[in-house]
Amino acid sequence: MSLNLVIVGAGPAGLAAAWSASQSKANVILIDQYDQAGGQIWRGGANAAPKRYQHLFAQQTKLRYLNKSHVLGANDDHLFLATPNGPQQLAFDRLILANGARELFLPFPGWTLPKVLGVGGLQALVKGDLQIAGKNVVVAGSGPLLVAVASQLKQRGAIVKALVEQAPLGQLLGFGRSLAGYPSKIMQAAQSLASLRNTPFYPNTWVVAAEGNGAVQQVRLSNHHSIECDYLACGWGLIANTELAQQLGCTLKHGSVLVDRSQQTSVNHIYAAGELTGIGGEDKAIIEGQIAGFAATGNYHAASQLAHKQAQARQFSQQLATRFALRPELKQLAQANTLVCRCEDVPFEQLQTQPSWRNAKLQTRCGMGMCQGRVCSGATQYLFGWGQDSVRFPIHPVSVADLLMESI
Ligand SMILES: Cc1cc2nc3c(=O)[nH]c(=O)nc-3n(C[C@H](O)[C@H](O)[C@H](O)COP(=O)(O)OP(=O)(O)OC[C@H]3O[C@@H](n4cnc5c(N)ncnc54)[C@H](O)[C@@H]3O)c2cc1C
Repeated sequence: MSLNLVIVGAGPAGLAAAWSASQSKANVILIDQYDQAGGQIWRGGANAAPKRYQHLFAQQTKLRYLNKSHVLGANDDHLFLATPNGPQQLAFDRLILANGARELFLPFPGWTLPKVLGVGGLQALVKGDLQIAGKNVVVAGSGPLLVAVASQLKQRGAIVKALVEQAPLGQLLGFGRSLAGYPSKIMQAAQSLASLRNTPFYPNTWVVAAEGNGAVQQVRLSNHHSIECDYLACGWGLIANTELAQQLGCTLKHGSVLVDRSQQTSVNHIYAAGELTGIGGEDKAIIEGQIAGFAATGNYHAASQLAHKQAQARQFSQQLATRFALRPELKQLAQANTLVCRCEDVPFEQLQTQPSWRNAKLQTRCGMGMCQGRVCSGATQYLFGWGQDSVRFPIHPVSVADLLMESI
């Protein structure tokens, strides 16, 4: 009987894993919560991906693709899913986790005002049908995503009033120099920066408040500038979606899933690839996905051929973590009445006195609302150093109908 290999996430990492696993006789099943494969960067499927990656989409006929299917939890050999056809349990012999990352939001006065969005959030809306032409936008926070999104917004006709990066200029220049070994990234950065040449750029600066009547109208910066705007896109980098890996008992290190050279986690037969093992972008996701797909199907020779590229990708990921490390001043932005958990309206002052995430949940309902802590858990981890004691089923908010799966 052929091996059941299940891959969670059809972004670059999951697609690459599926591609290399499909070279074997394994029975490959790829799962994603969205309709189309492509993940965060290729939202919209094959049309959104560059030519050189079209083969990753073409292969979907060779495997089973469960789209619009949400993985809610797992045990040693089964995944629990909410699918359009109802709840399902799916058995696996090998599992590759490629379920990506999400944006980190940090609280500051006014961050809950309408039209204050995550950088990736505004990007997604604009890739949908939000009309941004002629709108004044401030793009702020940290990381290369700011430059990419500011450039995309400009292409869609937005007036990018300022690009505000918290990392100091020296660190940014160091990051630029570290790109020397990555010609494709230099090209990408150069194109984005060229399109932003007339955009005011403030390094070593951050948003201290968003202000407005009913929606954001003005942003105040740490350099004492105030800028009028229609939108503030603010993101502080990405955090890995580690909940499923944690539920399966995989060891984490610095907020990422720990893997060996064949992308195997601390749990036998469970592999991880892409943003989940360290934020590193599309190239890292693809290399790691390929290695995971080969290793999980026993093709260690093919996996080892990619070791050099894997090491390079991991170095790049290290550079990102170091050069865009968040500065301690950002922990002082929230005021006593600034909401940290926006689902349950929990202000900063109620959390300051709590010793842990668990206590905060029990005493204040922080993280117990609609998003189930997907936003505030990252913030409280940064602000107070809280980690999660345990990750329970379901890992995502779910309807009662989907919960009935436990009885099947
Ligand atoms: C909001 C956002 C915007 C970004 N924009 C850019 C950009 O403009 N340019 C750029 O170079 N990089 C961008 N990045 C980074 C880029 O997306 C990643 O480097 C790259 O996509 C990593 O690929 P991945 O396969 O590891 O993860 P992802 O692309 O995130 O893919 C993970 C996939 O897993 C699926 N998934 C997650 N959890 C579950 C679950 N429980 N059940 C089922 N499916 C699940 C998701 O739907 C997703 O399709 C962005 C990242 C984010 C978070």
